[in-house]
Amino acid sequence: MESIAENLAEVREQIASACRKAGRNPDEVRLIAVSKTKSAAAVREAWDAGQRAFGESYVQEFLDKLEDPDLSELPIEWHFIGHLQSNKVRQVAGKVAMVHGIDKVSTVEELSKRAGQHGIVMDYLLEVNTSRESSKYGLEPSTLMAAAELCFGLPNVRLRGLMTIASPDPGLARREFAELRACLDKLRSNAPDPSLLSELSMGMSQDFEEAVQEGATMIRIGTAIFGWR
Ligand SMILES: *Cc1c(COP(=O)(O)O)cnc(C)c1O
Repeated sequence: MESIAENLAEVREQIASACRKAGRNPDEVRLIAVSKTKSAAAVREAWDAGQRAFGESYVQEFLDKLEDPDLSELPIEWHFIGHLQSNKVRQVAGKVAMVHGIDKVSTVEELSKRAGQHGIVMDYLLEVNTSRESSKYGLEPSTLMAAAELCFGLPNVRLRGLMTIASPDPGLARREFAELRACLDKLRSNAPDPSLLSELSMGMSQDFEEAVQEGATMIRIGTAIFGWR
């Protein structure tokens, strides 16, 4: 088995190569290392190999990692990428650079309230169910605009873009990524400040090349870096 540092180097090279193929600048694509279910020591290894942004999916596991002596001193840029329920917002407020998995206006309202209590502004993405699989979270593309309209006016939070988890089939995935990009374009044309809406969080270990082709600005990779869960 290869080390985390070797896996990271390989993933970075594959991202750079996908960017070249897509005619994109690799600086436009951020790698978020998804460390859910993996140990703090594994995160530390990736940090020591130069990785700075990490994604977690489960609130309690995330809070445990924050407190871990291996990590607590490090200025890690944490992203909450799991589905965030309203009653868990309080626990992540002030602790993450961005929340990716929100699919309800009421959750954004809660984030707005909690960010206000911390005296900060929090960045978030809305999750869109582009695959329309009923098992997946996310707003239907058809209801996204109406939801976003309700979010734009909320204080202490900034909608920065969209997130999706695609179908397992890479052929379908590519179309779903294209749809997310189209949703973002439409959102921008209706937004009070379109320049804020710059992020497309899409692509995982199996489909990040397709995501880069379709304009991903953040890709969330776990298995290819940390091994099977
Ligand atoms: C687990 C997870 C990932 C990473 O998936 P891999 O296939 O391991 O790369 C990305 N995004 C979300 C939302 C996840 O839950």
